[in-house]
Amino acid sequence: MEACQVIAMSTIEEITYRCNSCKAIWSEGEFGRDCPECGGGSMQRNCILCNGQCDSVYLRAVLDSWDSGEAHWIGSCNLPEEEKQRLMKILFSR
Ligand SMILES: [Zn+2]
Ligand SMILES: [Zn+2]
Repeated sequence: MEACQVIAMSTIEEITYRCNSCKAIWSEGEFGRDCPECGGGSMQRNCILCNGQCDSVYLRAVLDSWDSGEAHWIGSCNLPEEEKQRLMKILFSR
């Protein structure tokens, strides 16, 4: 019986989150390298602002990522305010 199998699987495994664009399974740590929806991480990634210098971990906002087709992350940079301003200028002046 198919239905039984599905129920049994879902009790063991957590919900599978995957990228709609490249089908990488985020909940298993996969992500597409050049995929805007993956955005360089699976369910979490290091700080997008300073590229991990501050040791802050950002969590994926799965629904927002799906809705927009672009990676959305929840988190904040731990670097001092001035440093963040400086990095933001670099990021957004590209
Ligand atoms: Zn992707
Ligand atoms: Zn940071």
